[in-house]
Amino acid sequence: MPSRYDTSRDQLDALLAGEPRFRATQVWEGLYAQGVGPEAMTNLPAPLRARLADDLPAALSPVAESEGDGGDTVKWLWALADGREIETVLMHYRDRSTVCVSTQAGCAMACGFCATGQAGFERHLTAGEIVEQVVRARAAAAPRRLSNVVFMGMGEPLANYDATWRAVTVLHDELGLSARHLTLSTVGIVPGIRRLAGEALPVNLAVSLHAANDELRDELVPVNRRYPLATLHEACREYLAAKNRRLSFEWALIDGVNDRRRDAEELAAFARSLRAHVNLIPLNPTDGYGTRGTPPDRVATFARRLGDLGANATVRRNRGTDIAAACGQLRAVHVRRRAPRTPPTAPA
Ligand code: SAH
Repeated sequence: MPSRYDTSRDQLDALLAGEPRFRATQVWEGLYAQGVGPEAMTNLPAPLRARLADDLPAALSPVAESEGDGGDTVKWLWALADGREIETVLMHYRDRSTVCVSTQAGCAMACGFCATGQAGFERHLTAGEIVEQVVRARAAAAPRRLSNVVFMGMGEPLANYDATWRAVTVLHDELGLSARHLTLSTVGIVPGIRRLAGEALPVNLAVSLHAANDELRDELVPVNRRYPLATLHEACREYLAAKNRRLSFEWALIDGVNDRRRDAEELAAFARSLRAHVNLIPLNPTDGYGTRGTPPDRVATFARRLGDLGANATVRRNRGTDIAAACGQLRAVHVRRRAPRTPPTAPA
């Protein structure tokens, strides 16, 4: 089992066969209500604690923790049991705390402006590995209440649909998070959006749009070649009809690329037709992409233009740029000390 949060209640009952019936409830509450591992469940006899510590391992080992924005943003780099690394970001706001979770180690979507996309795909996370990120962040946020979870970390949630949806269900059922406070973000995997429309829990859907014409979007978000805008539009419409939730579009403003007048016009038309809200984020710098983010004055112009064209838009405050924890900067690479280089040998 990669994470103790991958163990179902039935599996836990089986693990505790021969123990009094109430033990399973104690362990379950320890895991979910208190968010602690077996070693900290002091209501269990010591030998049982020791045995469960082996049977119910933690999936995430902290490798590094960094704080940005004066302590309002915290980023963890975790090592998974197989040595793969992922990142999780916790953000404190005046009235709530939000955690941004990863759903894959790496990402196969290959958006050129995104650090995770630049690094490529490693593997899917299990549902338990996703849930454990939330449990760890909730503990770190205390006494503040962790109320929101955004699936906007490393990876494409809808390319790892089953684990992602299982995690959503656990967060809702066992951690008591409301579906309205859970947001899945996607590059636009159309079959995934359709499946979401058929689920019982009405989570929020965010689509990383970044371009509203196929030519530009093919370039910025390569998955657009498989699911072009007309298809994406149709799937979004289905989601809205089924869930009646507000849809949002993410738009990373890239200098001279998608911040022109015509981009605003195309975006406004696309967003209006779906009554979607637009989140504007000036592109954050990443090593593998040369073009910079739109400067603040033109971000403001673009936002104003969208408003004039009848689209709802908000310029998002950028979080975590000082610790490479902002949108598109998650990469799970920590600086390792290089071995000293041998000096080049002089020609004979
Ligand atoms: N794969 C999913 C979940 C990741 S969400 C998705 O793409 O929606 C991360 C968000 O940050 C996405 O909207 C992504 O397009 C955006 N992003 C990626 N690189 C960025 C960058 N350098 N600056 C700003 N936003 C970026």
